[in-house]
Amino acid sequence: MKSLTCPNKHRPPSGKGGAIIRHGFYATRWGKRRRYQCQTCGKTFSSTNGTPYYRLQHRRATFDEVASHSVEGLNKSAIARVKRIAWNTVRWLERAAVWCRRFSDRKINRLAAVELQADEIKAIVAGKKQSVWVFAVIDVWSRLWPSTVVGKRSY
Ligand SMILES: [Zn+2]
Repeated sequence: MKSLTCPNKHRPPSGKGGAIIRHGFYATRWGKRRRYQCQTCGKTFSSTNGTPYYRLQHRRATFDEVASHSVEGLNKSAIARVKRIAWNTVRWLERAAVWCRRFSDRKINRLAAVELQADEIKAIVAGKKQSVWVFAVIDVWSRLWPSTVVGKRSY
C-alpha cells in the first residue's frame, strides 16, 4: 500500500517484510471499509487510523463541514443546528484543533514572515469567574497563523 504505514510504533524491519497488505473489510453505517495488516507486527488497522477521522461515527465530509463552519465563525450551537447533529458532536472541533496544532508544529519550522500582526483578546471562562488572554500572531501577507498563546496578561 503506497502511503500507509503501521500505526503501531515499532522499528522498521531490515531487509524484506514490513509491507502493509489488504486484510478484509469492516462494516460502517455507510458500507464496508478496507482493513489493512502490517506484515511486521501482524496487527490490523483501518485507513483512518492516525487521522482525525479515526472512529468517526459520521461521514468524513460532515466532519470537514463542521470544521469549515467553525473557521467561518459559526458557534457550536449554530453548527449543530445547521448540520442537524448533536451539540456534543461538535466537540469534533477540539479533535480538529489537536490535529491542526500537530500539523502546524510539524510543517511550520522556518517561517519567512513578511509582516507579523499581533493581537490579544480577553475571554471570560468558567462561568464569568475567570478571565484568560489569548494572544495571536498572524502573517499579514499569507494569512498564516503561526503562533497562539493562552495565558495571563503580563510581561
Ligand atoms: Zn506494525
